[in-house]
Amino acid sequence: MFFDTKESFKNAYIEAMQNNFGKSIEQATDVEKFLTLVGMIKAHANSNVYKTNNYLQKTSQKKMYYFSLEFLLGRLLTNNLMNLGLYKLVQSGLADFGIDLNKLEDIEGDAGLGNGGLGRLAACFLDSLATLRLPGNGNTIRYQYGLFKQLIVNNEQVEVPDQWLRNGNGWETRHPDEAVKVKFYGHVKVTMNYETGRLNFEHVDAQEVLAVPYDMPVVGANTNCTNILRMWSAEASDNLPANQDFIKYLNEVNQICLNVYPDDSTVEGKYIRIKQEYFFIAAGLGSIVKNHLQKNPSLDNLADKVCIQLNDTHPAMSIAELMRIMLDDYGYEWDKAWSIVSKVFAYTNHTVMSEALEKWPVEYIRTLLPRVYSIIEEIDRRFRETVFEKSHDRDLVERMAIIHDNQVRMAHLSIVGSFSVNGVAKLHTQILVDDLFRDFFNFMPEKFNNKTNGITQRRWLLYSNPELTELLTKKIGPEFQTDFSQIEKLLQFVDDKKLQKDFMKVKYTRKLELCRFLKDNYNIDVDPNSIFDTQAKRLHAYKRQLMNILHVIYLYHRIKTEPNFTMPKTTFLFGAKAAPAYVLAKKIIKLINCVAQKIDNDPQAAKFIKVVFIPNYRVTVAEYLMNASDVSEQISTAGKEASGTGNMKFMMNGAITLGTMDGANVEISERVGMENCEIFGLRANEIEDLRSHYVSVDYYKNDPRIMQAVNSLIDRTFSPEADDFIDIYNDLIIRNDEYFVLADFAAYVKAHEHINELYSDPSVWARLCLVNIAKSAYFSSDRTIKDYVKDIWHIKQIDNSDLH
Ligand SMILES: *Cc1c(COP(=O)(O)O)cnc(C)c1O
Repeated sequence: MFFDTKESFKNAYIEAMQNNFGKSIEQATDVEKFLTLVGMIKAHANSNVYKTNNYLQKTSQKKMYYFSLEFLLGRLLTNNLMNLGLYKLVQSGLADFGIDLNKLEDIEGDAGLGNGGLGRLAACFLDSLATLRLPGNGNTIRYQYGLFKQLIVNNEQVEVPDQWLRNGNGWETRHPDEAVKVKFYGHVKVTMNYETGRLNFEHVDAQEVLAVPYDMPVVGANTNCTNILRMWSAEASDNLPANQDFIKYLNEVNQICLNVYPDDSTVEGKYIRIKQEYFFIAAGLGSIVKNHLQKNPSLDNLADKVCIQLNDTHPAMSIAELMRIMLDDYGYEWDKAWSIVSKVFAYTNHTVMSEALEKWPVEYIRTLLPRVYSIIEEIDRRFRETVFEKSHDRDLVERMAIIHDNQVRMAHLSIVGSFSVNGVAKLHTQILVDDLFRDFFNFMPEKFNNKTNGITQRRWLLYSNPELTELLTKKIGPEFQTDFSQIEKLLQFVDDKKLQKDFMKVKYTRKLELCRFLKDNYNIDVDPNSIFDTQAKRLHAYKRQLMNILHVIYLYHRIKTEPNFTMPKTTFLFGAKAAPAYVLAKKIIKLINCVAQKIDNDPQAAKFIKVVFIPNYRVTVAEYLMNASDVSEQISTAGKEASGTGNMKFMMNGAITLGTMDGANVEISERVGMENCEIFGLRANEIEDLRSHYVSVDYYKNDPRIMQAVNSLIDRTFSPEADDFIDIYNDLIIRNDEYFVLADFAAYVKAHEHINELYSDPSVWARLCLVNIAKSAYFSSDRTIKDYVKDIWHIKQIDNSDLH
C-alpha cells in the first residue's frame, strides 16, 4: 500500500481498485475512483496514527482532548494530501490514468458536523494540534446527518437533510471492540456498605445505549504526527430491560445521533439535545479512563496525564460524569475526587447572548440522568456553602448558584468545575470578567484568561488560494508556509507597485474561480470586474445582515431617484443559513433574495449593483468566497460577536474589514492600524449607554434615507404582498430595534462611501490588502494553540525524529 514515488502510487492505486471494487481503473466509476484514493490516504494516515500512538504509549505523556459537540470539518481530501506532501505526486499519478484530481476532490461532500464558527474553530484546532506535533484528540458525535442543506425556493430558505454519509465516510475506522455503555433514565439505588461505612450509589433500571467509536485520522502538515477525531455513534445494547418495547427503544437510540442541532443560539428539542450532550461525554470519558488505567495504577494522577477542553457548555456534564466515575466506579471520596476532577477540565465560553447560555430544567436532567443530577446537586450545595462562607451574601449565592429557579446553569457548572475559563477575543473576555461572569471573576480571578481565536492558514490560504501562495512565495520565500509568523516579511514590500499589480491580478483570478463555482453549481452570473463585498456567516439579528441589505435598498433608491448617481459597480454577496425555527432570520433571507431579484430585473439598478445570495453556505463555499472578496462585512452590534473567525479568513486573503469594534475586529484593527481597515459605528460601551434611552423611531423620523429604505419594506417594492416583511419592519420600528441597526446606519453608509473612495485607486487599495495579509500571522490557529498549550494544557511537543 505504501508509495513514495509516482510509479509505486500508480501500482498501489491499480491494486487497491481491484481489491476494493473488483474493477480496473477504466471500469471504475468516479465515486469508486474517489473512494479508492481516500482509502489509500486513510491507510497512509493510519500508519502515522500507529507511529504517534506508539510513541505516546512509551512516553506516557499528557494528552489533551477537545470535547466539542461540533466539528465543522469541510472536505478532507485536499487538506490531507497537502499536509502529507503527497498532492503533486498523486495528481500526476492520476493524470497518467486520465483522472483529474480536481474532479475527485469535487466528489467529496462537506463533513458539516457543526453550525458555524464554534465548530469550525474546533476543526482548525485539530489541524494546528497535529501540525505542531501536539497530542490532542477530538471527541464528538458521529451524526447521521450534518447541518441541514439549504435550498432557496421562491426566494425562501428550504431545509433538506444533509446526507453526508451517502457515499460512506472513507476516512473513518469503526472500533466496535472499544464501545462504551451509556445509561439513561432509571433511578439511583442507595445502599449502605457496613464494612466501609460508605453509601453505595447504583444507577438501576436504566436504559442502556452502546456508544461505538469511529476514528478519523487528523493529519499534521509536514510531520508524521497524526491525531484522532473520535466520533461516537449510538447503537442498540444487548442489555434491554425486560418488557421494553423494542421498536420504541430502537427509535430512541437512533434519535441520539440523528442530526446536528441546527441552532447554536436557542434551546430546542431539549430532551434529545441533553441526551446528545451526555452521550458523547460519557462515552469519551469512559474510553479516556479505561485508557488511563491501562498504563497507570489508579486515577490519582489523571490530571497529570489528561486535560479536557470543553468547547462551550455543551460538554459541561463531563464534570459531574467524571465525579460519578471516580465516586461510584472507583470508590473515591468526594474531596479527593473533586481535587482531581477540577484540575482536568478547562472551559471556553463562546457567547454573551443570554438566550444562548444553556440552562436545562432540573426535571429533564433528573429524569434522564438521575445519578449525574444528584452529583450536580452536591456540587451546587458545596459551592453555595463556599460562596456564603466567604461573602455572607445570600443574593450573591443565588446569582452564582449552579442550580437556580429549577434550572441547571451549564455555564456556572463549567466555571466551578474547571481550572481555566477563557473567552475567545480580548473584548469578549473583558465583557466576561466585567459583566457576564463578574461575580465569578471577583471570586476566582486566577481562572480567567483570554485566548483569541485563530484559523488554520493551511486550509484558508495555502491550499484554497494557491495563486496568492505562489505570489507570496516568490516575494518573501517559502518560509511563511511552515512558520506563518514570517508572513510579516511582506510588510516591507507593500509599496512595491509591481507586487500591488500582481496582487490585484491574483484577486481577479480568484474572482474568476468564484464566478465559475457559482455558475457551475447555482447558475449564478457575477461580473468579476465589480467590487466583491461579502457577508458570509450564520444568519442572526445581532450579526445585522439586515443593516447590509437596508444599505443596498438605500443605494437602489438613490439609483432610481438621482439622475447623476454613480458608484463603482459592486456585487453584494451573502451566504447564511438561518435556524429553521428562527422566523425573523428566514424573513431576512427572503428579503435579501427579493431585493436581488428586483435589482436583476431593473437594468438601471443592475448597472451599479448586484445582490447574490449563495445557497447552502458551508466550508467549501467559504473556501471560494473569502479569497475572492474585496470587502469583509463584519458589522455585528458592538459587544455581541464573541470573536468571529470569518473576519480572519478574509483578512489573510487580502480583503478589507468593514466592521464594528466587535470581537476580533478590535484586534485586527489594532494590528493593521485604523487606516488599513474601515471601522465604523457605536462602540460596545456606547451601545450599553444608549440602550436605556434608545428610540429607534427617532432615527427613522430624522433620517430620510432610513425612512425611505424602511418604508419600502412594507410598500410592495420588493414583494407583491405588502405584509411579507412586516415582521422586519416591526422589529425595527415597533420593537425598538434591539440590535441598533438604525443607530449605526448613517455611519455604515459613510463607511461604504470611504471604501469606494479607497477602491478607486488600485495602488492604494492593493496596499491596504497587502498590509492586511502581512499582519495576519496573529490570527493563525497555530498561534492560538501555542497560547492554549502554554497557559492551559501544558502538553509537550513530540519530536519529528521520534515518529517513525
Ligand atoms: C468561518 C466560518 C464560520 C464563522 O463565521 P463568522 O463570520 O465568524 O461567524 C461559519 N461558517 C462557516 C462555514 C465558516 O467557514
